[in-house]
Amino acid sequence: MTSLRRSLTIALAMLAVAPLAQAWGPLGHSVVAELAQRHLSPAAEAEVERLLAPEHTTSLADIASWPDQIQDDPAQAALWKQTRGLHYIDFVHGDCNYVPPRDCKDGRCVVAGLQHYVDVLGDRSQPDAARREALKFVVHFVGDVHQPLHAGSRDDKGGNTYQVQFDGKGSNLHKVWDSGMLKTRGLDVQAYAQTLDAHGPVALPPPIAPFDDPYAQWAEESCSITAGAGFYPASHKIDQAYVDAELPVAELRLREAGRRLAEVLNLTLGH
Ligand SMILES: [Zn+2]
Repeated sequence: MTSLRRSLTIALAMLAVAPLAQAWGPLGHSVVAELAQRHLSPAAEAEVERLLAPEHTTSLADIASWPDQIQDDPAQAALWKQTRGLHYIDFVHGDCNYVPPRDCKDGRCVVAGLQHYVDVLGDRSQPDAARREALKFVVHFVGDVHQPLHAGSRDDKGGNTYQVQFDGKGSNLHKVWDSGMLKTRGLDVQAYAQTLDAHGPVALPPPIAPFDDPYAQWAEESCSITAGAGFYPASHKIDQAYVDAELPVAELRLREAGRRLAEVLNLTLGH
């Protein structure tokens, strides 16, 4: 374990026990990024702005969906191929305990993807271009690992093959969680982040011993949500009762992701 990784691990574990004074679609990713940006330390904020300068933005929300967008860019075909398996993790149905050789073969899962890109981001010997790319992946993957169906069951490809009726149309449960439910609020990124941030700092779930892999814990939390009663609507209909019950869960995950992303960036960039 590098000392950076060790201090990150300890700090992320402490976060849960000592609360301080947040793949989604573009909206969800941008809300997570905006929530995090509101809680960056001045040093981390300055480093984010320096790294993003060539992108002509200072906003993490602007780059939060880039790792998805590269799938449509022929110039990024190789990078997409290399990273497409890092946006999610498939658990075995009924078992949300992370077993790397089984659930993350050859490092092809979001848990390993996060670890890799946090390491690159924190490595000041890397060129800025590599660290800028790593920043985009870290912002994106912290969002993804908190979307429950990015850490669901292999059997239905994280809800992608679970067909549902939503808003009078055919859809699938993965899409409903990625973007469908969030859009029912009718809020833009800034307004959504403001609304969620107004609740104050979210209390994080307690760490699962032995605290050695916070990213695995975040994935296990997501998996456990998908195993909850009512998460899969037996009727295959997303009605108002479903949204009333599950949208607060989705929004809690956005807040947890935002808070944890801020902490990762403060620890990684704040020196
Ligand atoms: Zn993604």
